[in-house]
Amino acid sequence: MSNYKTETKCIQSGYEPGNGEARVLPIYQSTTFRYTSSEQMGRLFDLEESGYFYTRLQNPTNDAVAAKICDLEGGVAAMLTSSGQAANFYAIMNIVEAGDHIVCASALYGGTYNLYAHTIKKMGVEATFVDPECTQEELDAAFQENTKAVFGETIANPALVVLDLEKFANAAHAHGVPFIVDNTFATPINCRPFEWGADIVTHSTTKYMDGHAACVGGAIVDSGNFDWEVHKEKFPGLTTPDETYHGIVYTEKFGKGAYITKATAQLMRDLGSIQSPQNAFLLNIGLETLHLRVLRHCENAVKVAEYLKNHEKVAWVRCPSLPGDKYYDLAQKYMPNGTCGVITFGLKGGRDAAVEMMDRLKMVAIVTHVADARSCVLHPASHTHRQMNDKELVEAGVQPDLIRFSVGIENIEDIIADVEQALR
Ligand SMILES: *Cc1c(COP(=O)(O)O)cnc(C)c1O
Repeated sequence: MSNYKTETKCIQSGYEPGNGEARVLPIYQSTTFRYTSSEQMGRLFDLEESGYFYTRLQNPTNDAVAAKICDLEGGVAAMLTSSGQAANFYAIMNIVEAGDHIVCASALYGGTYNLYAHTIKKMGVEATFVDPECTQEELDAAFQENTKAVFGETIANPALVVLDLEKFANAAHAHGVPFIVDNTFATPINCRPFEWGADIVTHSTTKYMDGHAACVGGAIVDSGNFDWEVHKEKFPGLTTPDETYHGIVYTEKFGKGAYITKATAQLMRDLGSIQSPQNAFLLNIGLETLHLRVLRHCENAVKVAEYLKNHEKVAWVRCPSLPGDKYYDLAQKYMPNGTCGVITFGLKGGRDAAVEMMDRLKMVAIVTHVADARSCVLHPASHTHRQMNDKELVEAGVQPDLIRFSVGIENIEDIIADVEQALR
C-alpha cells in the first residue's frame, strides 16, 4: 500500500512506467505472452514462478488497475472480474463448497439476492438473510456449524440502508468467518470497510468507479487480515493441498496473498469471467477522477434531496446524508464526508404520479443504471420489479411509488429545473 492520500492514489497507484516507457497505462491487448524457454513456462503453470502467460489468468493492464483499486481500499491483493456479479460470485465460491452456508444482510442489490438466494443454492450453498437492523443476538442466531462467510453492502442498492459494519464484522469474527462487503455505492472515497473490520471487499466497477456507463466490470480486494490458518478446518480449500497444482497449500505458499491467488488460479482458470484489458483501461481512466466525481455526485444528491423534501407534491425522500434520514447516524459514523449520489423518493400521487413525472423529465433519463455521470431515474415497480404486485413489492422493501434517482454531475440548477418542470 502506498502512503499517498486517496486523491493521489486515484491518479498514481497501480502503474509506474520505467524510463522511456508509456506514461499512460498501456492496453495489453494480447491473449498470450512469449517465452524463450519451455521450462520457464512450465514453472508458471505450477505457480512456482509469477509471470504472465494467458490473459484469462492474468494480464498486465488488468493487474495495474486491480492494484490501484487495492491501494484505494487499503488491501494486500486484488483482482478484476468481468462484472460485479462475477465478483460477488467468486468472493463467496472461493471459500465455500456444497453443504456450506452463508449469512447475508437482507438489503441487497437484486442481482446479488438472486445469486445468493437461488443460484448458489442449486450448487448446494444455502444463505440466511438477516434484517440489517437485527440485534446482535438475532445476528448470532443466523449462524450454523457450516457457516463460512458474512456478506452485506455498505449502502444497499436501492434500499439505501447503511450497514452497521462493526456489528456485522464482530459477529463474523466471533464465529470464525470473514466479513465480505460490497462497497459499490460508497466507493473507497467515502468508506473503506477494512477500517471497520471487513476482510474482503467487492465492487461493481460498472458504477462510480468507471463512472461513465461505458464498461461492465467488477473487482475483489482482500485485506489480508483474516487468518485462514486459525480456522483451518473451515477453509480446507485454502489450507490443504490443491492437487491441481501439485499439492501446493495456498496459505503456506502465498501467505496474505492466498485468497486472491486461489480465486485467480482456480476460479478464474475454471470459470473464466475475466475483464477485457480494453475495459480495464477505460476503468482506469474513470478511476483517475473518482475522487472529484464522487464528491460532486454527493453534493448534488443532497441538494436534490433537500429540494424534494420541501416540495408539496413529494410524499417522502430517502438520502442517508440528510439529517432526519433513518440511516443518518450510521452514515455519519461510517462515511461522514458523503454517502452516494443515489436517492429515492415517492410522490403524494403514488405510483401513477411517479410514472407520469418520470415521463415528463427532459434531461434526466429513464435508464436501467445508476452511478454514472448522467442523472437518471428508474421506477422499480414498473421496471426491475415489474412482475410483483404492490403487496409483494412492499415485502421486498420496494415501495410501489419509489423512484430511484441517480443524481449526476451536471450543474445542479439544470438538474433541479428539470425535476421542477416535471413535477409541475
Ligand atoms: C450493479 C451492482 C452489482 C452488480 O454489478 P454488475 O457490474 O452489474 O454485474 C452488484 N452490487 C451492487 C451494489 C450493484 O449496484
